Amino acid sequence: MVSYKNGLSLRFNGQEVFCVSLVGTLYHINHCQIQTVSTYVVTSGSLRLWHRRLGHLNLRVIKDMQRKNMVNGLSILLPQEYDRVCKRCALGKSHCLPFPKQSNTVYKKMDLVVIDLTGPMSVPTWLGMSYALMVVEASCHFPIGRLLKAKSEAAAAVKEIVTMFKRQSGKKLKKMRSDLGTEFIKELIDNFCKKNGVIHETTVPYTLEQNAIVERAITVAFKMVRCMLYSAGMDLGY
Ligand SMILES: [Zn+2]
Repeated sequence: MVSYKNGLSLRFNGQEVFCVSLVGTLYHINHCQIQTVSTYVVTSGSLRLWHRRLGHLNLRVIKDMQRKNMVNGLSILLPQEYDRVCKRCALGKSHCLPFPKQSNTVYKKMDLVVIDLTGPMSVPTWLGMSYALMVVEASCHFPIGRLLKAKSEAAAAVKEIVTMFKRQSGKKLKKMRSDLGTEFIKELIDNFCKKNGVIHETTVPYTLEQNAIVERAITVAFKMVRCMLYSAGMDLGY
């Protein structure tokens, strides 16, 4: 770097890269030779190195840049292939694909029941119920809800509802799906699913879409209850 009276000059190997002149409080670049010098600064590298230099850029784009001579100094050393998955790209660029708007899965009677427990609710009922359990039969989306005082009552309530489904449909349950978030599910798996040969399916954490049947049933039921209470002028404790 050489400074002169009204500015600065940047030199590399005796060759001037660019010079700037001071105008007021700003430096103005007068003459730019960065393109020719860039070949000294960045010479060549493997495709893997270029991929990293360019912020994990798409490999096809890097090859295009070289083939069309778009970047001065970009030459890719052999081998010009990147034969393995870049772990950083896999970690940094992965994203969740959108869920289909409508499920195309067709369930037969008692193939699947989906269960969910919500609570504690901000306003318990007058009888002290703070949790809502929802069990939905997947083939007809028939829901049964129960209000519970504590989570510990949930396993018994699910067993009772499933027994009722079984008796009324004349078929035995094959699968049960839940989000596996709570203690009562573990109790249910140990004391009910394993003994009766029912397969327990779990959903991916924080993926409500996979439990959409029961989530929708809960939302609909809660909205109906709230609207009826508001229209009757009664408080949420009812
Ligand atoms: Zn990468």
